[in-house]
Amino acid sequence: MISREIVEDILSRTSIEDLISGYVSLKRAGSNLKGLCPFHSEKSPSFTVYPGDNSFYCFGCGVGGNAITFVRQIEHMDYPDAVVYLGKRAGITVVKDAQDSYQGKRIDKARILKMNVDAAKFFHSCLFAKTAAAENALRYFTEARGLSLATIRHFGLGYAPDSFDAFGKHMRSLGYTYDELVEGFLCGKSERGTYYDAFRNRVMFPIIDVSGNVIAFGGRVMDDSKPKYKNSSDTPVFKKLRNLFALNYARHTCAEAMILCEGYMDVIALHAAGFTNAVATLGTALTSEQARLMSRYTKRVIITYDADEAGQKAAVRAMGMLGEVGLEVSVLKIPDAKDPDEFIKKFGKDKFRSLIENSRSKFEYNMERILSKYNVEFPQEKINALADLVELISTFYSEVERDVYIQAVSKQLGVPFDGVKNDVNRRVKQKAKRFVKEENQKAIRASQGFSDKVNPDYAKAPSVAKNEESVIGLLVLFENHRKKVFDGGLLSEEDFFTELNRRIFVYLRECYQSGTAPNLDENFSPEEVGRITKMKIARMNLTENGDAVLEEAIASLKSSMQKKNAEGASTMDALASLIDRMRKTTDN
Ligand SMILES: [Zn+2]
Repeated sequence: MISREIVEDILSRTSIEDLISGYVSLKRAGSNLKGLCPFHSEKSPSFTVYPGDNSFYCFGCGVGGNAITFVRQIEHMDYPDAVVYLGKRAGITVVKDAQDSYQGKRIDKARILKMNVDAAKFFHSCLFAKTAAAENALRYFTEARGLSLATIRHFGLGYAPDSFDAFGKHMRSLGYTYDELVEGFLCGKSERGTYYDAFRNRVMFPIIDVSGNVIAFGGRVMDDSKPKYKNSSDTPVFKKLRNLFALNYARHTCAEAMILCEGYMDVIALHAAGFTNAVATLGTALTSEQARLMSRYTKRVIITYDADEAGQKAAVRAMGMLGEVGLEVSVLKIPDAKDPDEFIKKFGKDKFRSLIENSRSKFEYNMERILSKYNVEFPQEKINALADLVELISTFYSEVERDVYIQAVSKQLGVPFDGVKNDVNRRVKQKAKRFVKEENQKAIRASQGFSDKVNPDYAKAPSVAKNEESVIGLLVLFENHRKKVFDGGLLSEEDFFTELNRRIFVYLRECYQSGTAPNLDENFSPEEVGRITKMKIARMNLTENGDAVLEEAIASLKSSMQKKNAEGASTMDALASLIDRMRKTTDN
């Protein structure tokens, strides 16, 4: 069990808006925020965040709760892991002790950030040390990569010496402990308990967030040894999958377009050549969080991945993710060079600029890929290519856009525009029909109560269950109602018909009587927490007339239970008299 104090401390330091906007792009709607639900697929936003209540709810699929519920659902974590995860984010380490109970320890984020700045200064100064190794590292940047000293300073590049403890010793002389250095992923601890420097004999790239904090490091070898790159793991101040290299600079110049590269060196070469809107992921494939992060700063992304097969595969994947968050995407084809860095060195920056200006849209890129699969000289292959292209065009929502692409296909394959258009329209209609059919089936299932796995008793007595939900919603929301119902003993668990609502009622009463705030996630499944959130959200506006609603709901719960008991009693009476009569008959 994690103590209530730790959980409450973590929740109070977590802004639900910040947390969720790392996954969903949210737009303000009155005092709330709305976005496309990350838990079901939808085209208009029904996923709502209530910052005032520290909660969220999706009107489409019923997912809802607080920050802990959100993490349980989106990261597929159980309750304790979700708390630990949020703790880390809020600067509180939650550790399990020998007795299996959890302890909370506050991490001083500001201290880790200061430690990172001192580390960056150390690495940078090592680049200019008068040793053969340092000179070799500097030559790697200036000669092998052609960077100027100004660029090296601009990005704060550095060198981690080839030593197991030179860095650690220096940092300890500045007052940092090994525990802190391990926490910040700057040192490691061996099985024998000795400490060692995490980065050795590598050129160093500090990773700086949009607020200008040094949050992590990437280190690269200078030869062909493996691994080529080593990056900080996640630390209390760093989430690898939610940051981008050089976004701190690019954000000022990327409003129109952003260039997405594969590696740090590509980004630095592009910035040095004047393309200051370039960023890179941090040693991993693009994530949906990073795509959303980009959508906050730009409208359009130009992908410039390596020309090899792995790079092109990654580009197709990235294109899908960026398209999903509403970004316009194009892919840069780099001729006669393996990456942007090499291209600029060979042909100059003006040539690169014209490449960008002619970069191909998502449609053109995919059309080229499809056409390369078929030999359209043969009629059957041409028909197959056309079918693929029709499918591709039908994925675009705008009819005007579709017409432009139909025009391109009809020209490319020498087929009439109207014919292609008919095929595309048929495909679009088919898809729409299937969508409507699926939605209808869903609605029918929901109305029959078949899909209600959360509260299976609901369908047996919907009007009773609805009154139960009214009571619970009001109890969760308003202190004065809890007082009234629990202190006054207005309701007991016997008044509840559905098992789920009875369980919730009993839990809320326990919390009230022990004077603790309810912690739903500790006691209910995420689906159940979603249902409780729905009960609450639906009654959020009931401040004034909440009393009347509560009284009415309680009264009808009482009467429906009395009726049920009376029915039960009369059945019992009838049974008793039947047995009585039977006995009499046998007696005779
Ligand atoms: Zn949803």
